[in-house]
Amino acid sequence: MEKSSKKRFYVTTPIYYVNDIPHIGHTYTTIISDTISRYKKLAGYDVFFLTGTDEHGQKVEKAASEKKLKPQQLADQVVGRFKNLWKTLNISYDFFIRTTQPFHEKAVQKIFQKLKNKGDIYKGVYEGWYCVSDENFLSEDVPLEKGGYKICPDCGKRAGIVSEDCYFFNLSAYQKPLLDFYKKNPSFVRPPSRMNEVVSFVKQGLKDLSVTRTSVRWGIPVPDDPGHTIYVWFDALHNYLTGIGYDRNIDRFHKFWPADVHFIGKDILRFHAIFWPAFLMASEFPLPRTIYGHGWWLKDETKMSKSKGNVLDPHDILETFGSDPLRYFLLREIPIGLDGNFSHEGFVHRVNSDLANDLGNLIQRILTMILNFFKGKIEESEKEKEDDKKLRLEFAALKEKVFKLYEDYAINRALEEIWVYINSVNKYLARNEPWKLAKMKNKRKRLGRILYQAAAALRGISYLLYPVIPGSSEQIWKYLGEEKPLEEESFSKLKFENYKPAQKIKSPKPLFPRVSLKDFLKEEEIQPAPARKEEKMEIISFDEFKKMDLRVGEIVKAERVEGTEKLIKLDVDIGTEKRTMVAGIGDVYSPEDLEGQKLTVIANLKPAVIRGIESQGMILAAEVEGRATVSFFDKDVPTGAKVR
Ligand SMILES: [Zn+2]
Repeated sequence: MEKSSKKRFYVTTPIYYVNDIPHIGHTYTTIISDTISRYKKLAGYDVFFLTGTDEHGQKVEKAASEKKLKPQQLADQVVGRFKNLWKTLNISYDFFIRTTQPFHEKAVQKIFQKLKNKGDIYKGVYEGWYCVSDENFLSEDVPLEKGGYKICPDCGKRAGIVSEDCYFFNLSAYQKPLLDFYKKNPSFVRPPSRMNEVVSFVKQGLKDLSVTRTSVRWGIPVPDDPGHTIYVWFDALHNYLTGIGYDRNIDRFHKFWPADVHFIGKDILRFHAIFWPAFLMASEFPLPRTIYGHGWWLKDETKMSKSKGNVLDPHDILETFGSDPLRYFLLREIPIGLDGNFSHEGFVHRVNSDLANDLGNLIQRILTMILNFFKGKIEESEKEKEDDKKLRLEFAALKEKVFKLYEDYAINRALEEIWVYINSVNKYLARNEPWKLAKMKNKRKRLGRILYQAAAALRGISYLLYPVIPGSSEQIWKYLGEEKPLEEESFSKLKFENYKPAQKIKSPKPLFPRVSLKDFLKEEEIQPAPARKEEKMEIISFDEFKKMDLRVGEIVKAERVEGTEKLIKLDVDIGTEKRTMVAGIGDVYSPEDLEGQKLTVIANLKPAVIRGIESQGMILAAEVEGRATVSFFDKDVPTGAKVR
């Protein structure tokens, strides 16, 4: 077979910033990418899967100096942690790029120079509000706070004014080409809601983008002007070109570029869906096919972030469960476009019910019967009956369905379908009662057929699950007596008929032992999440009730919190003073609906910072199927009146 005729596929994760410890967010993107990469390999593609680390910039410089290390030393340490985690999680990447690698630095300088020569990069002066923590100038529409300063909407920290000579990228010139491109390629950004977000942002107009810093030393210097350092995002995004060989392995580069999919967290959507294609248009490279912005894993309904200190460390779970249960849970629980809420209860329940009970028991049951009744080799069996044929045909249909779903990145749906089939196999065994037939002398061939059918089904299941739980799938494959590695079996040969009955079954070890929540939490000393409020009713005394300061508040001003779908920032007059509150009602109410309305507020609630805004109180609303319904007062009810 000539290799060049093979279909190719290029998938990436973002490169992870080395001032951070690896957490569930990094883990999630990487598991998605690994699963799709493994699926594509099974489907016969020549796949390149790239991941790596982003090692330049002010934050790394700062974090290193706090630890009395050189930036490169810090980077080396953190890279080790990422690589170890990926090994534990069975992540099978083809290359790990580090932006401090000389070939990358050289290539970024080359592209920078090319754009400068073309006039797409030019020198000017930039003044703006700058967040040191995110190394990002704030967008102009971030409002000024009362004290005359601005708060970074991403991290909630105070920004400062920075003015410097810098190089600009001519982003404004690419507004129209970008909009034309989005129109012709509506699935460039997925899911569709994120595409809409990007289009409406670009339609508002694009300003030229500063792409260098003079205040940062740790980075790639501008060619011929070494006082300027190339902005980390310009540097980092080009890893997708340099990682497959741009400027050093041109054959490989041309084989794999453009990327088929960049999987990213939705928080870095603009960089990938606007800046990145504009850079590529300027340097005249083809654009990637899809940017897939996945949701966030929330813990107790808030985003996990280093600054909030509620980061879930995947190592805790890996120590108790190993990698496949974590991979399975993250991919099964939600479609990759939506946010998910991580709870230890939900995790343990899902793993025990799906993996230990449904799949784990099926494996044990089938293999043990073949070992006990046939000494591990099914040597005789009768022809298929109607019920046997049904199980085989159902698998043939499942296989096509599951591959289509993987193809569409609908991994959770693929797993749902596989579990429907696992239940079918369980029912098939319950109907045919092989354990009873084993006691009858003249039923040996019937028994052989039933166990053969069940083993062939299990073989098919392990193959279809391989992209998600590769380690366990390979194990099941081997228990069934297969000698050829699973990934060498071609998709087209995946049929009942290709399972050889005379193969010697091996004695299985339980793959998914049950873990009780108590043992899991005790071992890791993690506090159980607080019970959801609607689950139990707590009685409070009248005195406790009296402590609550409930009043009529009047909404003076309402505006959306940028970058969120649900949050609205409200200025509320509570009679004695004005308060800022953030409410999650933006999916039901628009700011215009709210201005001038009167409603019940709790005025003496401890303030909370939400998306960088201090919320000084809370409005009351009913929750109906997850959506808020606010009860408004008549206009003549006085503002500030007590609610009792
Ligand atoms: Zn910030």
